[in-house]
Amino acid sequence: MSHLPEHLLVGYRNFMKGRYAAESERYVSLAREGQAPETMLIACCDSRSAPETIFDSGPGELFVLRNVGNLIPPFEPDQEFHSTSAALEFAVDVLKVKNIVIMGHGRCGGIRAALAQGGKPLKPGDFIGKWMSLIHTAAAAVASTSVMTATERETALERISVRYSLNNLRTFPQIKAREEAGELTLYGAWFDISAGELWAMNRETGDFERPSLD
Ligand SMILES: [Zn+2]
Repeated sequence: MSHLPEHLLVGYRNFMKGRYAAESERYVSLAREGQAPETMLIACCDSRSAPETIFDSGPGELFVLRNVGNLIPPFEPDQEFHSTSAALEFAVDVLKVKNIVIMGHGRCGGIRAALAQGGKPLKPGDFIGKWMSLIHTAAAAVASTSVMTATERETALERISVRYSLNNLRTFPQIKAREEAGELTLYGAWFDISAGELWAMNRETGDFERPSLD
């Protein structure tokens, strides 16, 4: 009887023979000295948008937070359970990351669900609907636009939601303060799964552009 899915055990064997064997010293020193990643990356849970894979990152390089739709809620210190805000707090207050990147992605199921319901939760107790209702206003506006195709609407909302989440990041007092002090920079990105294209948000205009890779 296997206590883990077989494909995970196969992958782990490959990891030990490959990456761990090649970088074992780095793993040992990270274990001894602790992590000090400079960049926090916020991405969707979608299995096709794994940041460590897309950015070819080694151990200790990226502090990754993944949630449905790569959303940041506004700062709400209300004693409720806020896993995303807890991760942000740790990254900013403890690790003192220098960069936070929010990366949306193409064909996002969470964004599609938000558009389908015009941003409203399906029913009380519906976790995804409630979560995605964070972008209710934008979803309702985009959903009502008839000049775009369904795919164009999804891409638009995927990118608008990145700008929305960046604005919400700035509602966290410590993030706002560190950004204003020049100790923290906020970035937006969007990854197209099928073409492998990465787009970066222009930090002045908010438009998404292909970065120069020279
Ligand atoms: Zn997604």
